Amino acid sequence: MQRGVFGGSFDPVHVGHLTVARAAAADLALDLVHLVPASDQPFKSGFHEATPEQRMAMLRLAVIGDALLVPDDREIRRGGVSYTVDTLRELKREYPTDSLCLLVGADAAADLPTWCEADALRRLARIVVLTRPDVALPDHRPVDRTLVVPAVDVSATEIRERIRRGDSIEGLVPTDVAAYIASHGLYRARD
Ligand code: ATP
Repeated sequence: MQRGVFGGSFDPVHVGHLTVARAAAADLALDLVHLVPASDQPFKSGFHEATPEQRMAMLRLAVIGDALLVPDDREIRRGGVSYTVDTLRELKREYPTDSLCLLVGADAAADLPTWCEADALRRLARIVVLTRPDVALPDHRPVDRTLVVPAVDVSATEIRERIRRGDSIEGLVPTDVAAYIASHGLYRARD
């Protein structure tokens, strides 16, 4: 089995994440993609930010009924600083006969050489950078392949800012995620 691994803060998960994960799975013939939220985020005072458990809950809602995308809470359970190399090692132990493909967004890819145990990463997984036709990739080595995926003009930062301003996020996150954000009062400025 071919397993994709796609990490991030997912604060919150949005249609950009889901679109690129599905596109990568189709292009790379992946059977599953683990969506792995990183553990704690630095607290940004003054706003109701999502806890790791809330980020995980939103991710679960976003992929209900989707057999391809697997919400994976191992980094949150592990706690502390999340290192991708630890996540890949765990997956390799759990699924020794499966092959792993680490999916990395173009922005995160720029830092790849500085990731913890960058050489070990390459031995554990194929590294595929997800990019867009208009994004120039820095020249660095630890990448097995780049894959052009559909551009979805959305970021979690933009979603949080829209909520703070009281603007709609319709169409930017799945409807169940929007309902969760509203009912938990996430990302709003404090009164
Ligand atoms: P933030 O705005 O808070 O930095 P983000 O929207 O970039 O968040 P992350 O959870 O940090 O989301 O991203 C996880 C991965 O998803 C990263 O590798 C990032 O490059 C990728 N990604 C995020 N948004 C998009 C998008 N719209 N299209 C393609 N890839 C994306």
